[in-house]
Amino acid sequence: MSNTDVSTAHAPRILTRAEHEVSRKNISPAALRVLYGLKEAGFQAHLVGGGVRDLLLGGEPKDFDVATNATPAELRTVFRQCRLIGRRFVIAHVRYGDEIIEVTTFRGKGDALDIDREVEADGRILRDNVFGSMEEDALRRDFTINALYYNIDDFSVVDYVGGLDDLNARQLRLIGDPETRYREDPVRMLRAARFAGKLGFAIAPETEAPIERLANLLDGIPPARLFDDLLKLFLFGHAERSFDQLLRLKLFEHLFPQVELSEANLALIRAALRSTDERVGLGKPVTPAFVFAAILWSVYRQRLGTETDDSAIDAAADNVFLRASRRVAIPRRFSVVARDIWWMQQRMIVKSAARAKRVMRHPKFRAGFDFLLLRAGLNPALQPLARLWEQLQGAPAASDTSFAQASGEDVAAKPRPRNRRRRGPRPVVPGAGEAVAE
Ligand code: ATP
Ligand code: MG
Repeated sequence: MSNTDVSTAHAPRILTRAEHEVSRKNISPAALRVLYGLKEAGFQAHLVGGGVRDLLLGGEPKDFDVATNATPAELRTVFRQCRLIGRRFVIAHVRYGDEIIEVTTFRGKGDALDIDREVEADGRILRDNVFGSMEEDALRRDFTINALYYNIDDFSVVDYVGGLDDLNARQLRLIGDPETRYREDPVRMLRAARFAGKLGFAIAPETEAPIERLANLLDGIPPARLFDDLLKLFLFGHAERSFDQLLRLKLFEHLFPQVELSEANLALIRAALRSTDERVGLGKPVTPAFVFAAILWSVYRQRLGTETDDSAIDAAADNVFLRASRRVAIPRRFSVVARDIWWMQQRMIVKSAARAKRVMRHPKFRAGFDFLLLRAGLNPALQPLARLWEQLQGAPAASDTSFAQASGEDVAAKPRPRNRRRRGPRPVVPGAGEAVAE
């Protein structure tokens, strides 16, 4: 019998403080306050999930989650700065400074007698607030490596599901029967892609096998939840590898069905994700707008066709975000920036120094320029334009003369025939008008 069989009780494997590397000095002060606050109030308190996993792997956790036997009502009495968040199950957010610690009450198995649990006909769990023991809580978690507990009482690490072995083997294994677990919550398929990308772990064959067959269950997940999970996939320094996993597991097409998976489209998305990862690595700010601008660029370009005026750009962008939001709810504050980035691709085909200066003053100019660089990296025809903008930024007070010089020298533009001037301004970069449609 497998040691992840949900119906069977097991003695846990326990590593004493001397047998593992999790140290309090690597746990955030806020998480420690929550753990000790619970302990002092007479409750059990454990760090669980990514915090324990990443510390055991020698990494730096993104956040800390705490599991306890205190009920949400009791948590309110222990922590003044506590908010109860009710989605699928009640979670308490305890805030210290800018840090929020997620605290959950041990969740139970949920058998036929439970009243506070709702299951859809297809097996999806909608509401799930049955409290239970720590062991039951472990069995309800997703992957074995996410179900390890660090006990603040004696600093031991507690493993009910074989998570320590899987950490050593560097593999992701769902707890229990994989198909049932994906049906309960199809987002676990995205989580498999995320952890495989982030940790570089293999997905155990039984855990991976049902994904292709069940991927369409993602179509029934609320778009706002998919957006949340996409942020976790793409904004934490492992976006490119997570994307590769999404493609490999054929999940990406369920998130963005309108994006054609051609080599050119994938190359642009991958370049955007790589640049996002590099920025995260350097501690620079990143925005989901840039990532969504890249993912949906080909759809937008196709929709826009050869039009160039503002109203056509607006209409095309409206249409793209409207269709995309049926699957992934991209909040307006990000879609407006993505639209600016797209708009700027057109407006960076400059016709005069005055216009160039105006484009450069746009608050999202830098993002638009970075996007142009990405495109130019994949399309040599855009390189003169990208170089020109690079130069212009070095001389922000450029006069028309220096502007003309910069463009002339840089792109080696042929002198224009005089009679053409009467027809109005042209792009300073020869051919750039055509080159935008990659
Ligand atoms: P990260 O490093 O991204 O924070 P994490 O493993 O901590 O990774 P969270 O989304 O913070 O992931 O969730 C915390 C823990 O809650 C997980 O480790 C897992 O034990 C449990 N969990 C989260 N989502 C699910 C889910 N959909 N199904 C089952 N358990 C889940
Ligand atoms: Mg976490």
